[in-house]
Amino acid sequence: MKSKQVGVIGGGQLAWMMAEIAPRLDLELIVQTPKQDDPAVICTKDVVLAGVDDAIATKELASRCHWITFENEFIDLDALRSLAQQGVCFRPSLDALAPLLDKYEQRSYLSSIGLPVPQFRSLSEIKDLETITEFPIVLKARRHGYDGQGTFILQDKAELTAIWNKFQCPPMLLEEFVPFTKELAVMVARNAAGKIIVYPVVETHQKNQVCRWVIAPAAISVKVKQEIEQIARTLVDELQVVGIFGIELFLTPQETILVNEIAPRTHNSGHYTLDACDISQFEMQLRTVADLEIATPQFKTPGAVMVNLLGYENSNSDYQAKRDRLADLPQTFVHWYGKSESRLGRKLGHVTVLLKEEELAQATAIAQKIESIWYE
Ligand code: ADP
Repeated sequence: MKSKQVGVIGGGQLAWMMAEIAPRLDLELIVQTPKQDDPAVICTKDVVLAGVDDAIATKELASRCHWITFENEFIDLDALRSLAQQGVCFRPSLDALAPLLDKYEQRSYLSSIGLPVPQFRSLSEIKDLETITEFPIVLKARRHGYDGQGTFILQDKAELTAIWNKFQCPPMLLEEFVPFTKELAVMVARNAAGKIIVYPVVETHQKNQVCRWVIAPAAISVKVKQEIEQIARTLVDELQVVGIFGIELFLTPQETILVNEIAPRTHNSGHYTLDACDISQFEMQLRTVADLEIATPQFKTPGAVMVNLLGYENSNSDYQAKRDRLADLPQTFVHWYGKSESRLGRKLGHVTVLLKEEELAQATAIAQKIESIWYE
């Protein structure tokens, strides 16, 4: 059978992990990405070398593909609209992405469909700072934030004024600081026929606003789990999503749930699915996009820990010796993204450890052990 082409906007590690699976589904990936050494370029035969917001390049990409999907949402939505009008099939659709690309608009949208979010408002002028009296408070850039860049937890007025003056990028999103007991996340997929698959809810651990590790499944009550599953279903149904979304959430001391953020694509919190179950988040995205059958994934083990391997220095090393040590641990799978440069905080790879029933309680200790080898 001849392969069908899926265009992917973005060529980082998410597209790379999708590309590895594509041939098994008789699909061929073509990525649009700016740099020749971006992770997905190595394993795709065809590439459109251009920025992810370059809609002219996306037209070229569309001419070679049946569908276009996303691994990066820093797109120029308005510029892509004319392509959709000419019949280019974006999955998820541009209408599904539209309310999500700006953090303030995303909060407003989630609230309008009845989903619980932290209290928030837009901050656009320096005089608005005078009205803020309660701290800590959280200030966020409305677009292009990732891995905590553009998110600031501020303890007092002096810090707030300093960040405001430094970034000069109003309007920004201002929101209440949530004293969460846990951060949770869930992946949810929906196909064109409206079938929805919700993956298990996981617990994520952030340090300095960057995800360090993920434990699957999260130790939460049945009530919390069901509420999160309902949030996931409501969201993808309301937006008529075709594809997969990641949802980040806060669990408060009162056991209420607040949605922090929606990623309209595969997500770091779903990486464990590559090794822990039969249909990974990457395969699920491709299946929904290419109208292949989708089913509830079957898990190989009762749980898993995923640890991000973040850059801790400027270097060109491939860290082979450390990767070998990690791979020697039992039930451990190392995924290395092949980036040519390491920088502070850059995601260079991840490690998944599959857990037996009796190891579930040691998930955090296992994550810390992996970190002690990596950051030693
Ligand atoms: P990014 O889009 O860059 O990942 P997020 O909005 O997800 O930024 O924030 C990154 C991290 O910052 C979150 O995982 C959480 O640890 C912390 N954080 C974000 N918003 C809040 C908030 N309102 N209250 C408390 N902590 C927050």
